[in-house]
Amino acid sequence: MSANLNIGVDVGGTNIKIAVVGTGGNIIYSGSVPTEAYKGYGHTINNIIKSIRNILNKNNLDTSRIGGIGFGFPGMVDPEKGMVKFLPNIPGWTDIEITDTIKNEFGLKAEIDNDVRCAALGEYNFGAGAAYNSMICLTIGTGIGSGIIIDGKLLRGANFCAGEIGHMILKDKDGPICGCGDTGCFETLGSGPAIVEMAEKYIMGGKSAKFRELAEGGEITPEIVARAAGFGDKVAGRIYQIAGYWIGIAVTNAINLLNPEIVIIGGGVANAGDLLIEPVKRTVRERALGTASEKLVITAAELGNNAGVIGASLLVCSEFSSYNNDVRF
Ligand SMILES: [Zn+2]
Repeated sequence: MSANLNIGVDVGGTNIKIAVVGTGGNIIYSGSVPTEAYKGYGHTINNIIKSIRNILNKNNLDTSRIGGIGFGFPGMVDPEKGMVKFLPNIPGWTDIEITDTIKNEFGLKAEIDNDVRCAALGEYNFGAGAAYNSMICLTIGTGIGSGIIIDGKLLRGANFCAGEIGHMILKDKDGPICGCGDTGCFETLGSGPAIVEMAEKYIMGGKSAKFRELAEGGEITPEIVARAAGFGDKVAGRIYQIAGYWIGIAVTNAINLLNPEIVIIGGGVANAGDLLIEPVKRTVRERALGTASEKLVITAAELGNNAGVIGASLLVCSEFSSYNNDVRF
């Protein structure tokens, strides 16, 4: 039987998602394992290998049915060498070789790339980007990343760093400190932690707010602030307008530079839907160059948290033979 399935692995700071994906982008089997980064990268790699074996065995899948295994990592990778260079939120993964280990273990082709680039590949082929040739796919969560496809080509850049939009500097002076060591990065202004910080600052002096009540003494999350806005809490609504404004400014800069047809916004914070996307659209309308934004579509991601595994599985598709080829399958 021919290999008509691929495996996608989406590595996150807390969990690793693994899925067997059909060539039509359909998820056939999936599972997840804890990352447990504190136990070292060797432990995490062994967990991934064990978990892939489990999925194959449980579903009576012989490796001859599988074309290869693709990985998305949340940080800097070298897809040509098959190495993870640096993961800001997963300590210990510095210059770690991965693809040869997987090839030796399973006798299958293995590829890696950045996780948001994988999500962009997923959305481009099977999600919100399916009808377009030029797109920017943003993920807004604890951090902010992007995957960029222009004229059908996935942008990786000279050191595979293209798309690090979270570190676009939006406040030249007096901006908050970013995980990258600089100040005023987009990620410090429009991410999940930025939303939480605004909410916590507001109630610091003991002021009441709907999100404080909803948190019931526990941690405030972006989702709780969104729910409070849904209940009509004006402060919560304003917090999303501010975050949406900064996302809109970053998107404006990106579209003036790259002129995509569509901007897709995903990630945990984007689950707030129009509450977040409306202020983004408004800001882009007001600030972007008319020619660059004339036919621009700004929309929510369609594949949810499956975009990463679906996109990772596409890395090993036989059609995806060269980094310079069109990435439409
Ligand atoms: Zn930064």
